[in-house]
Amino acid sequence: MSLTKVHPLDLEFLQKKDAIAAYLVKHATGAALVETGPGSTVAALVERLAGHGLSPKDITHVFITHIHLDHAGAAGWMAGQGAQVHVHPVGAPHLLNPEKLLSSAARLYGDRMDFLWGKFLPVPPENLVAVEDGQVIRAGGLAFTAIHTPGHAEHHVSWLLEDTCFTGDIGGVRIPGPRYIRMPFVPPELHIGKWRQSLQRLQSARFRHIAPTHYSVYPDATEHLALAGRILDETEAWVSEVMPSDPPVEKLREMFVAMLYEQALRLGLDEETITRYEIANPTWMGADGLQRYWRKVVMAA
Ligand SMILES: [Zn+2]
Repeated sequence: MSLTKVHPLDLEFLQKKDAIAAYLVKHATGAALVETGPGSTVAALVERLAGHGLSPKDITHVFITHIHLDHAGAAGWMAGQGAQVHVHPVGAPHLLNPEKLLSSAARLYGDRMDFLWGKFLPVPPENLVAVEDGQVIRAGGLAFTAIHTPGHAEHHVSWLLEDTCFTGDIGGVRIPGPRYIRMPFVPPELHIGKWRQSLQRLQSARFRHIAPTHYSVYPDATEHLALAGRILDETEAWVSEVMPSDPPVEKLREMFVAMLYEQALRLGLDEETITRYEIANPTWMGADGLQRYWRKVVMAA
């Protein structure tokens, strides 16, 4: 079987390469997109599509891994061009009516909200499809299978197309270069136990190519997922070591950055690559996410 070609579109978020991808897959009657990127990169998205000889109106299907602004921000805009948007049932109401999502993001990003993320338009109900676990969506001769993969967010879906899986954020963040992964441990829905199960499910789906949204396609899915699992285990061990003394969050952020730095060096990364990861994925937010997970999930159990 010849593999369907997957084209990463670099949206050059904040003029940065290799930060946020949308994935383009051409099919018999048009094309599909996995992720749309944020509202702030719509112009780049249109330009990249044009580079493939396509206009936004050629996009029949949009597959969203989860509704965070860097993944789904332009879903409403794409729906306005005629695409059907596919998302987890728990994420669907937020695409129909993004107000709550936007106000909680605004608490985090303040007056940089618009600059960073641009417009997040609602998806009209007739353009929205909520997908169950295991559901197969056919698009111009291609089949995309939804795999519900909670852990980073409760409503996270990984999309399997033949031998490639689009893993959103659940497989971690990886940029081209030496094999290394950063796990985006953001509040408020982080759940390490569910995350581990999701990685195991992906591992048992046995695909060869893994395509994290941040960033690009790698032909070593098995090794990638194994490394992600190891990093998750190490992080969990770190959490149960440091959290019981309940350090203030500033201290915790410091300790977390130091732990990741040590881990990256141990995995053979050089300083320059570590810095690139810091820029792509600021670490402090992970400390906040882990603290919340400890308090609301582990301690509450
Ligand atoms: Zn996310």
